[in-house]
Amino acid sequence: MSGKSFFIDLSRCTACRGCQIACKQWKQLPAEQTRNTGSHQNPPDLSFVTLKLVRFKEVGTGDDFKWLFMPDQCRHCVDPPCKDAADSVLKGAILQDQDTGAVIFTEKTRDLPFDKVHGACPYDIPRQDPKTKAMSKCNMCIDRVQAGLLPACVKTCPTGAMNFGERDEMLSMGKARLEALKKTRPKAVLVDVKSAFAGFHFPHGITYWSL
Ligand code: SF4
Ligand code: SF4
Repeated sequence: MSGKSFFIDLSRCTACRGCQIACKQWKQLPAEQTRNTGSHQNPPDLSFVTLKLVRFKEVGTGDDFKWLFMPDQCRHCVDPPCKDAADSVLKGAILQDQDTGAVIFTEKTRDLPFDKVHGACPYDIPRQDPKTKAMSKCNMCIDRVQAGLLPACVKTCPTGAMNFGERDEMLSMGKARLEALKKTRPKAVLVDVKSAFAGFHFPHGITYWSL
């Protein structure tokens, strides 16, 4: 299947959260009341109105200490298990755009069992509006992409961490970057590539570096 992909280069992410804010702005989603939980991760999790979240993690101690960042969002799986789960209950509630591969939640998701759809996603992505019961997540900025624009989160990224384009182009970019990065960071890996080619029920839309 052809289509579009994100390539996220974590070695270039500075956790500025520009992508998180750009998503809020473009989607015209409200801010959330939050409190300090001892982390810069704010709000503390994805929600019905927060479709993109930069996650922060502290690992190791002393010289081994690392402060890790990861912009989290829907991976737009090639064979999306959330859609499989939805189709078994109500066809048409979750759609997949044939041109881009974007996985899109419609208003009809309010008639789906949330636990079934959420439980099918390997990445804990779907969220539910407590009032309407409709589910939400990143939709790849399908309106922008169909108009020839980059997703808002990619457009705003100042470091080159967020990339988006034709799937083949993104995979080539990822492989070239891995080759360059390995010279100084031998533990770097490009993940989810084989599953993309094999077409398993695993994500490939977003590719992460592990350093
Ligand atoms: S592609 Fe659009 S909807 Fe998805 S995380 Fe980026 S800005 Fe938000
Ligand atoms: S990451 Fe989760 S919500 Fe997104 S397409 Fe895959 S299964 Fe569906």
